Order: sequence, then structure tokens, then C-alpha cells
Amino acid sequence: MTHTSESVNETERLAIDSVPTGLFIGGVWRETAARLPVEDPATGRVLCEVADASPADGLDALTAAADAQAGWASAAPRERSDLLMRAYRLLLAETERLALIMTLEMGKPLSEARGEIAYAAEFFRWFAEEAVRLDGGYMPAPAGGSRFLITRQPVGPSLLITPWNFPLAMGTRKIGPALAAGCTCVVKPAEQTPLSMLALAEILVRAGLPAGVVNVVTTSDPAALMTPMILDERSRKLSFTGSTAVGKILLEQCARTVMRTSMELGGNAPFVVFEDADLDEAVEGLLAAKMRNIGQTCTAANRILVQRSVIDDFARRLTERMAALPMGRGTEPDAVVGPLIDTDAVTKVTELVADAKQRGATVLLGGESADRPGNFYPATVLTGVPDEAAMCHTEIFGPVAALTAFDTEAEAVERANDTPYGLIGYVYTESLRRGLRVSEALETGLVGLNQGVISNPAAPFGGVKESGLGREGGFTGIDEFLETKYIGVKI
Ligand code: NAD
Repeated sequence: MTHTSESVNETERLAIDSVPTGLFIGGVWRETAARLPVEDPATGRVLCEVADASPADGLDALTAAADAQAGWASAAPRERSDLLMRAYRLLLAETERLALIMTLEMGKPLSEARGEIAYAAEFFRWFAEEAVRLDGGYMPAPAGGSRFLITRQPVGPSLLITPWNFPLAMGTRKIGPALAAGCTCVVKPAEQTPLSMLALAEILVRAGLPAGVVNVVTTSDPAALMTPMILDERSRKLSFTGSTAVGKILLEQCARTVMRTSMELGGNAPFVVFEDADLDEAVEGLLAAKMRNIGQTCTAANRILVQRSVIDDFARRLTERMAALPMGRGTEPDAVVGPLIDTDAVTKVTELVADAKQRGATVLLGGESADRPGNFYPATVLTGVPDEAAMCHTEIFGPVAALTAFDTEAEAVERANDTPYGLIGYVYTESLRRGLRVSEALETGLVGLNQGVISNPAAPFGGVKESGLGREGGFTGIDEFLETKYIGVKI
């Protein structure tokens, strides 16, 4: 079934070989002649190959979703809820196998992969609970004489596109609310990390998924596969997590059929440390906000603004902690600094650091490519990074902390907001009033106030400006997959 290379041990080989490698369409696994190789970013070696879908395969998946839509929409909410709850339990029960698969295809340390499985599963539990709480309304018209009946219905067959950095959680964050709302879907994982989603499809089957309700297609050519599906009028919703550049292309395509969209796009998070902050807490918060996923998160602290009176002290404590983080393959027990996703990512980080140095930034740690095979880049701390540096305007997506000094609160807010992105900002201060003032002034959908990781399935996640449209998770997450219908009733 797979062509596992010899660069993995027996346990790893068993985990990889446990994943179905076909397309999952209409409840059936379908192999293709074309193959998509999946690489281990820690070694650059091919782990296995999976199916590479053609545009015709994609349209077949959409047909399967469209055919299953009416049945799934009319299934009892409790039935939809129970399916998600069974899948939640299976995900947790299989954490070790799934975490290993994720680490092998994506590179993140095993401990973080386990954390992602728990986070991903929690979306299923949350939306299992939400599935049975859909509400509506019944009220008299203001002028009397008729009644307003307001109900909510599933939007219909949905296309779900996910990135490589959270191969499972970005999927369950969409599949959970889609299924809870009564929508069928076609899921397209990133080409670098198809295995986690294929493993999830197999788990959903064991949980009792009806044929066609979730379909999974993997491809080496996402534009060729997705464009005909997006333009097909049977598709009613596109939920996308990925880069702002691709999000803009997809929004243009969706305009042609006025298709509903949810967009979770890129970020350029400011991390603001005031002189009255608990500096040790701020350093720990920054390590979480910066180093989780080896710096490859949309919520990664990208620009670290520290008040001038404490920046040297903060930089010293941060550098000590960053220097102690072991580098290694994600499967090694203590590894924190795993590999970046691919060689392009290493090139991008290398160029961003060179640009910052050339513009006057000082290197306190790292700053040179790692001398080892695989896509590694060492933990790096730069200070005195000028606002003109390219890394202040683009997602670094690597283990590089870029520090810069500020003097006043007003200056910090102005510089923090000086970006087209608006996903998240972080604020560290012991002053409640200042913390709330700055949190409200940040032009972002999310704020971490004295907290470095705030993602939670029970909270609304999403950005403003070019970071996206809509919110995932929380009480409103299911709304992304529902239409409101008003029925006027004469009595
Ligand atoms: P990407 O935009 O390159 O790819 C994302 C997905 O889109 C992949 O599945 C890819 O195959 C697909 N895709 C690419 N081009 C396409 C096209 N023309 N038509 C249809 N599909 C296409 O992003 P990535 O590199 O996989 O992920 C990293 C990006 O995702 C970063 O910008 C990060 O900030 C962002 N992200 C955002 C969030 C969030 O919640 N806001 C979460 C995670 C990642």
C-alpha cells in the first residue's frame, strides 16, 4: 500500500502504514495512478505516497457530498452530535498513533503533536454539544396581524481547505461545525501533510460516518483541483485556512457564484511588553507564542516590542531560555526546535534574518543556518530590528524572535497596528487599566493579555483586516455553516 523508506523505525513504519492512502469519496477509498509523495521534513526522505486527485476526482467528491446533503441535513441533531462524540473519543484513544503520524509528516515535536490531537478532538466535543442547541424565534410583527418564524438551516455542501501547520486541528475546527450544522463536505488538506486528514477520515468511518458526508481529496495541484469545485454551483460554502495571498484568490473565485466564505488567513502579531510586566512571565509567554510549532503558527509573535527601560534585561532572559531549547527530529524525546516544513521555508527565514542584519539588527543568538541535514533553522534572537526590516512586514514562520524598543504606550499601539494584518496581539503589563486599554486599541480579532497561547475551541477565533473573515469555534462557530430563514406567517 505504501512505499515507506528505510529512514523510519519499525514503530514509525507501522504508524505510516496504518493510514489509508487513497481518496475518500462517497464512503469508498479510491486509488489513483498519479501519486503524491509525503516527505519527512526532518530528513527530506519520502515517507510514503498517497493518491493525487484529478479535477474529475474532485467533482466526484462534490457529487458525493451533494448527494448526501439532504439526508444529513434531515438527520436528527442528536444523531449528528453522537457521531462527533464517538469520533472525539476515538481521536483521544488513538492519540499516540496520530501524534506520531503528524510529527513524521509535519515535523513538530511529539509533545506538541499530542497537544494538537487533544485540541483537535475538543472541536468535535464542543460541536457535538452545539449540534443539539440550534435555536430559532417566533414573534409578532410590530404592526400585528402576522408572525415571524425564524429558523436556521445548513448552508449546504461545503469545501474545506486546510494548511500544513496544524494538519488535524484546522480540519476538525471546520468539520465539527459543518457536521453539527447538517452540512456535508469535501476536505482538502495541504499537499505537505495529507496523512493526518486521511487518518481522520478512517476514524470517522469507524465512528459511523454515513457515505458522502465527509469526503477527503489529496492533490499536488490545489488550484487545478479546487477551481472547478469552487465554481460549481452545488458548492455553497468555502471555509479556508491558509495564507492571505491564496485567500484573496479564493475570495475572487467565490464572488462568481456569491458563495459564502470563512477565511482564516495570515498574521503579523505584535507582542508588546511594558516595563511594569512580570518579565519572567513575559518571557515564558513569548516562548509559547513564538516557539510553538517551531514558529510556524498564524498566531506566532512576529514583532516583539519591548519598552526601552527593560529591553536589555528581557533580551538577556529570553536568550538564555532560547539557547537551552534542544534542536532535533520531532520524535526525539526533548526536541523543541524541530525542522521547518520544507527547504523553501529555511530559505525564507535565512533571507529575512540576513535582511534584518543588513539593516542594523544585532544577533544575540543563532542567526546562521543549522549545519545538519533536514530543514532545520536554529533558535534565533535579534534585537534592534528596525521597522523597515522585511521580517516586520511578513510572517517569519520560523524560530526567530525579532526585538525592537519603544518608549510610550501610544507609540507601541501605533506601531503594533501598522500592518495590514489583524489576527492577534499580545500585551504584557501588570496594570489592569493599561492592559484593557491597549487590548481594546489593538486592531486584531484576538488578544493575549498576559497569556502566550489563547486558542480554545470554546472561544471565537479569527482575524480582522487581511487576516480574515468569520470566526471558528465558540458559540458562533456553528453560524458559519448555517443560513437564517425567516418565514412570514399570517394568522
Ligand atoms: P497556503 O495558503 O499556501 O495553503 C493553504 C491551503 O490552500 C493548502 O491546502 C493548499 O494546498 C491550498 N491552496 C493553495 N493554493 C490554492 C489554490 N489556488 N486554490 C485552492 N487551494 C489552494 O498556506 P500554508 O503555507 O499551507 O499555511 C500557512 C499559512 O496559513 C500562513 O499564512 C498562516 O498564517 C496561515 N494560517 C492561518 C490560520 C488562522 O486560523 N488564521 C491558522 C493556520 C495557518
